[in-house]
Amino acid sequence: MSEQQEHVASPAIRDHVDNYVGGQWTTPSGGDSQPVVDPATGDELATVEFSTAETVDEAVRTADEAFEDWRRTPVVDRVQYLFELKTELEARVDEIATALSHEHGKTLAEARGEVHRGIENVDVACGMPNMLREGSGNVEDIASGMDEYAVRQPLGVFAAITPFNFPAMIPLWFLPYAVATGNTFVLKPSEKVPLSSQLIFEAIDAVDFPDGVVNLVNGGVETVNTLLEHDDVAGVSFVGSSPVAKHVYETAARHGKRVQAQGGAKNYAVVTEHAALEESVPNVIDSVYGNAGQRCLANDVVVGVGDVTEELRERLIDAAEDLTVGAGIDEETDVGPLITADSRERVLELIDNALEEGAELVLDGREFEHPDEDLNGHFLGPTILDGVTTDMEIAQEEIFGPVLCLASADDLDEAIEMVNSTKYGNASSIYTEAGGEARQYKYEVDAGNIGINVGVCAPMGFFHFGGRKASFFGDLHAQGEDAVGFYTEKTVQIERWYS
Ligand code: NAD
Repeated sequence: MSEQQEHVASPAIRDHVDNYVGGQWTTPSGGDSQPVVDPATGDELATVEFSTAETVDEAVRTADEAFEDWRRTPVVDRVQYLFELKTELEARVDEIATALSHEHGKTLAEARGEVHRGIENVDVACGMPNMLREGSGNVEDIASGMDEYAVRQPLGVFAAITPFNFPAMIPLWFLPYAVATGNTFVLKPSEKVPLSSQLIFEAIDAVDFPDGVVNLVNGGVETVNTLLEHDDVAGVSFVGSSPVAKHVYETAARHGKRVQAQGGAKNYAVVTEHAALEESVPNVIDSVYGNAGQRCLANDVVVGVGDVTEELRERLIDAAEDLTVGAGIDEETDVGPLITADSRERVLELIDNALEEGAELVLDGREFEHPDEDLNGHFLGPTILDGVTTDMEIAQEEIFGPVLCLASADDLDEAIEMVNSTKYGNASSIYTEAGGEARQYKYEVDAGNIGINVGVCAPMGFFHFGGRKASFFGDLHAQGEDAVGFYTEKTVQIERWYS
């Protein structure tokens, strides 16, 4: 056992992060590298080598060569590989979740849930024969003896570039649909959390897809930019922060590709006097503090409407104080660490700025230190700021940490104005038992995912997933029918026969 492995708690951790190209595991060379760090302990779990432009070029060319045979493989045969992949992934749920919890810091329960949400997309894509049929159509006799059809055809090589916060689920928003529709695929996972993808690709390797259909390249900015500019990449799926999403959208489009780029978020929840408070408070707490707040669907600003605000504040403080902070891998933990020291510093700076702008700290997690001295990672305790207003930086910028901002509004109209005040439009929730309030909210809030008494409004695999405004650049979203549309080109065929 190597020295590095000794302080690694689990055999699920691979100390080697490899690429997977043309059905072979390879270690990229010649590029930068970076350690993969357990954010709870600071332990180095592995090293990830970044793929150079040359390595990416080889992966894309390999995927391109595999495309001709793969697109000719009947869809009913293509999905057999996905049925097998589902079985392989299900057998590995605990192993992937353990690695994920170590490299990311999220709790084991969250990690297991995430892997299942990823597998859900494999399930949906197994129905591709039917999905392709539904996206097509035909009309007989558009003129005498002439028929017209629309069919969906694959385009070639698709690349996906994914963020750190859902390293097992987000690659699976794309991979199953891209390959079931007949394309070949190259994944570039977040360099901060490459171990989950490593394990997912071990499942892919066990399924024995034809060589080159599914490929993995690890790396950073150069790796991404090579994919965005490569002539043989037909399209790019991206999830990450908004500035990078915009860069990906613009660069890939300039190079003639179709792009779907999901960006960052700033989500509000509104709690009205008609809310079922007893049930709503745990739901709000989960939305804010789940995944240590590192969730694009986290509602980190909570607006109390009218008289409910005071009771809501007291209940939220009580509930947040009860949360246990620790390593995600510990079953007792509710709130894990932040991904890096820089992320923690960024959140602390947002809190400081909010205090300078007039917010009041009613629960202070800034000085949190774990009693176990081995757990000296990037922890922050649950924090609550009261008196937050929409002109404050913290009310407009994504926090991505365990911080709840409390605000208040006189009525629902004012609350909705606050919700719509940000440049983002990913998600938002209302807590109310009054149907009229819920309807107004659904109608007037400018966000892609709206929860009614649901704080984490994460669409199932058979619905599309995507935001609006600066939270999304593109047209067709991830998952479900949108994914089928994104990964295929509709072609019209008109035919006439003379004999
Ligand atoms: P990030 O933008 O830093 O990184 C995402 C990916 O882009 C990574 O693979 C990274 O290697 C690459 N990348 C980073 N900087 C780049 C650059 N300058 N040029 C080219 N590529 C670059 O995002 P992150 O910190 O990993 O993830 C968190 C963000 O993702 C948050 O803003 C969160 O809201 C967002 N997110 C959005 C959704 C959604 O559905 N809208 C879902 C999950 C996460």
